[in-house]
Amino acid sequence: MKQVQVYVLDLTKIGGRGDFLCPRCGNVISPDDCSEKAYSILVAKVSKQGLEHVMIRCNKCGSELHLTGFSLLQELGASFYPFKGDRK
Ligand SMILES: [Zn+2]
Repeated sequence: MKQVQVYVLDLTKIGGRGDFLCPRCGNVISPDDCSEKAYSILVAKVSKQGLEHVMIRCNKCGSELHLTGFSLLQELGASFYPFKGDRK
């Protein structure tokens, strides 16, 4: 069974325009990049408040990056984060 590295990134600590580096391989992940060459979006949950939960995969090293720091998660705190959520 292939081990998948999972990282949780807090967007409120990244700042800037939303670009960030993959914690494992340094691949640049940019929200403006829609080509899916650098990353693929696995899960994107949207609630009434807006974007709530996004999970992406780095296409360079295969790590999964869970993005937090959207408004709702910020209020509920990180402990809420559904780590073993609805994954296939
Ligand atoms: Zn990576």
